[in-house]
Amino acid sequence: MTNVPVRPLRVAVIGAGPAGVYAADILTKSSEVRDAGLEVSIDLFDQYPAPYGLIRYGVAPDHPRIKGIVNALHKVLDRGDIRFIGNVAYGRDLTLGDFRRLYDAVVFATGAVKDARLEIPGADLEGSFGGADFVSWYDGHPDVPREWPLEAREVAVLGNGNVALDVARMLSKHAEDLLVTEIPDNVYQALRRSPVTDVHVFGRRGPAQIKFTPLELRELSHSRDVDIVLYPEDFEFDEASDEAIRTNNQVKTMVNTLANWIAEEKDTGASRRLHLHFLHNPVRIYDSPQAPGRVAGIRFERMELDGTGNVRGTGEFVDYPVQAVYRAIGYHGSELAELEYDEHRGVIPNDGGRVLDADGNPVPGVYTTGWIKRGPVGLIGHTKGDALETIGCLLEDRDSLPRAEDPDEHAIIALLEERGIEYTTWEGWNELDAHERALGEKFTAESAERGTPVQRERVKVVPRQEMVRISRQNAS
Ligand code: NAP
Repeated sequence: MTNVPVRPLRVAVIGAGPAGVYAADILTKSSEVRDAGLEVSIDLFDQYPAPYGLIRYGVAPDHPRIKGIVNALHKVLDRGDIRFIGNVAYGRDLTLGDFRRLYDAVVFATGAVKDARLEIPGADLEGSFGGADFVSWYDGHPDVPREWPLEAREVAVLGNGNVALDVARMLSKHAEDLLVTEIPDNVYQALRRSPVTDVHVFGRRGPAQIKFTPLELRELSHSRDVDIVLYPEDFEFDEASDEAIRTNNQVKTMVNTLANWIAEEKDTGASRRLHLHFLHNPVRIYDSPQAPGRVAGIRFERMELDGTGNVRGTGEFVDYPVQAVYRAIGYHGSELAELEYDEHRGVIPNDGGRVLDADGNPVPGVYTTGWIKRGPVGLIGHTKGDALETIGCLLEDRDSLPRAEDPDEHAIIALLEERGIEYTTWEGWNELDAHERALGEKFTAESAERGTPVQRERVKVVPRQEMVRISRQNAS
């Protein structure tokens, strides 16, 4: 006797970013599903009216190569065997009880969208910004304010990961050079007025401990009218650094790139500079008597390598007058209603993707994948491995999954309608997608007429209500 349902296995995936789409895709294509003669029926939810999560709202607009992953995700969702349901928030519109009633299994793929906290004095001063918040702003996230105060001439960006590079590049690039991207108009207008001249990126460890990736680092030198400035005194290597350079090609490539930039000593007299500093540990962001409560500078302790690739303080402190600080020191996953939460790591406690309860036991039928499962590290492609593991667990458990009371595919739609939730659909996304592309074409045509031709593939619609309106305009 087994519990294998004769009807399709009903699975809800919450989060339509890469992690959620990969999980849904792997589940539909799994040979275990095929071999067992199982059918699966998957609903993919997102709190935003549009799909693609981090790709739409986390990848920098001047990274069309990464944004191109959207084409692959589009193909998956366009097959028609995974149903997209957008503008529905877990914990607000639907409870865990709702999902349990309607599905045999739920997979949480909600990612990590908040900034990790920087616990130093002054981190909350006006002019101290979370890198993730800035990314949300320039990517036209529907729930962040449209205005961003770009008033600083000198800016500090903290962190040596790819988000710090994105933030520094977006702050230092000339707005005109971003017009070909999908940046929303409010972002273009604000960047155009930015008085910035110097963007300083600070890493707390050495050049061999950076968490950038080679392509993203090299890209810095492609910004027009922006000089890269490096400081030879920051180039310290310990045994662990030498070992990393010897054994890790990425590190070797990046250290070489930095060394070449130092050797070139390129000062082209550009109107903007992007400085890369290492061995600077932030200790205090401070204001000034002239502008109390507002960032006036940042203090660092100079660090030295301790032989293991870690650092210790030298006792020497250095101040940089800046008018804004961007903290790009990592993302942090958010707590989810009715599930345990590991506050320190910002993840849902889990064992290989099986969500655990307060006693460390698997919660039947509840799984997790992506950044909310393992923390905000790794490139988008790495999420596939996660999804494989999680879906593997789900399929292993399939005979013991709690059975949904109401597995009818229409039940969720009826519930959303009963609650008056303005959910969006795949057809709705296609409407919005076409609308954004049409805005791009219009811009392209008008710019040509003005004699300043700019080719724009898409102009993003930002306000949530407008996204919903366009997505639902032809809904029956
Ligand atoms: P990350 O790669 O983990 O980098 C975080 C950086 O912040 C590290 O340099 C870390 O230094 C530093 N840091 C942490 N706490 C700090 C503190 N208290 N004070 C000073 N510095 C501190 O995180 P991320 O940049 O947010 O990126 C997240 C993931 O997304 C990464 O895997 C990244 O590659 C990926 N991503 C990729 C792209 C792309 O274009 N390919 C773009 C964006 C993000 P330590 O090393 O010393 O801890």
